[in-house]
Amino acid sequence: MSEPLVDSFGRVHNNLRISVTDRCNIRCFYCMPAENVQFMPRADLLSFEEMERFVRICVGLGVNKVRLTGGEPLVRKDLSKLVAMIAAIEGIHDIGITTNGILLAEQAQELWDAGLRRINVSLDALDPVKFKEITRREGYEKVLEGIQAAQRVGFDPVKVNAVSVRGMTESEIVPFGEFARKTGAEIRFIEFMPLDADNAWERDKVLFAHEIIERLSAEIMPLIPIPDQNPHAPATEFVFQDGVGRIGFIASVSQPFCMNCDRFRITADGKVRNCLFSLEETDIRGLLRGGGTDSQIAEAVRSSVAAKWEGHQINTAKFIQPNRPMYSIGG
Ligand code: SAM
Ligand code: SF4
Repeated sequence: MSEPLVDSFGRVHNNLRISVTDRCNIRCFYCMPAENVQFMPRADLLSFEEMERFVRICVGLGVNKVRLTGGEPLVRKDLSKLVAMIAAIEGIHDIGITTNGILLAEQAQELWDAGLRRINVSLDALDPVKFKEITRREGYEKVLEGIQAAQRVGFDPVKVNAVSVRGMTESEIVPFGEFARKTGAEIRFIEFMPLDADNAWERDKVLFAHEIIERLSAEIMPLIPIPDQNPHAPATEFVFQDGVGRIGFIASVSQPFCMNCDRFRITADGKVRNCLFSLEETDIRGLLRGGGTDSQIAEAVRSSVAAKWEGHQINTAKFIQPNRPMYSIGG
């Protein structure tokens, strides 16, 4: 392996997120427009072979963790083949996926068999009416079936991502606390971030992690921080005082974890972004398709990471929302 991927703040990057598509089968309001989404032309999407080559090059730069995301990764045909291709790369120790869970029940076994071991299912509400209000589509039952299927085939824990939005998801806090205790799934509350296609984010709409901790502690029982947590994990994890039920918080707005960030990402159309909130991208697809050598691609990644800024500026007047919404970046 050559020199690790380090930025000017000394952060080492070993964690790659790959968006496999920008398409999705639901329309969460904090991510996508409700209708008339302009998807990328199919020919612009990286092929599995191009992704595999890119991962191999990144492994040479120290990457050992990969997460597949989107859009909705499970709508990409034959995704388990890509999982198997990445799992076969020497040096990859960890492959995960973030999915809305709608197609999970039918794919959980093949994903497991292909070598996938980590799964995060996004579900913002346990109330089906609220689910539809947020996603603007049907599918609630399928997501629950997907979580159960994933647990059945062996994913442990299944993590459930729930975006927290003030004025909308307060009613879901305690039911999710009970759900974590009953099912063994780990619930991770994510603060609503300014990455929505409708540009409707406001700080006042963020339901903060500390408010959720207070509510769960008062209405169920105190939450105790889990000791010796991985400093690079974005979630701060807790367990209820009696040891039953794990809850994590991704407090990207109230407690940014940028200084511990070890990630970079590649969009479905092959652009490397060194931060979710980047305003600049590095074109890798052009190199992959235009005869670029492995070392040219490695150099492009290295330069992108080297130029990473200190962190997002959500809490300052300087913040500029990227012109790609979450579904097009890959969350
Ligand atoms: N479709 C898959 C899913 O929903 O899990 C993967 C892609 S989605 C963009 C990845 C994660 O980003 C999901 O957990 C989703 O809830 C989260 N997300 C999307 N938009 C967000 C926003 N504006 N603020 C916070 N989290 C967001
Ligand atoms: Fe689709 Fe995931 Fe975005 Fe929801 S958060 S619209 S499921 S890509």
